[in-house]
Amino acid sequence: MSYSKEFIKKAHQATFANEKQIMESDSCTCFYCGHTFNPHNERKLFWIEERPPLDKTLQCPMCGIDCMIGSASGFPIHDQAFIEQCSETWFNGISRISDGKPVEKVSWVSLLLKD
Ligand SMILES: [Zn+2]
Repeated sequence: MSYSKEFIKKAHQATFANEKQIMESDSCTCFYCGHTFNPHNERKLFWIEERPPLDKTLQCPMCGIDCMIGSASGFPIHDQAFIEQCSETWFNGISRISDGKPVEKVSWVSLLLKD
């Protein structure tokens, strides 16, 4: 199953300024690392402030990338084929999903110290 470019593009828009949509979702997925979780079960959510009146944008608690999409968006966020196609399209095949890497917490400190 393959989704149209327009569909994938629309899905990308749902990852931006998505505070309301995320809080209406019982599940959301990161299209960079594949992490799926219930935003209401998180102790703390990390948001990026957007220019008012835009909503804030959610950051992935595992990899820190701002490409989370919630179930309330209506997109098939639990379809592996959809997730893989989004990841390929948005990151040009350079993502943890494209690399087949497991979901794990990325330490920003060690990333920053690498040269
Ligand atoms: Zn992630």
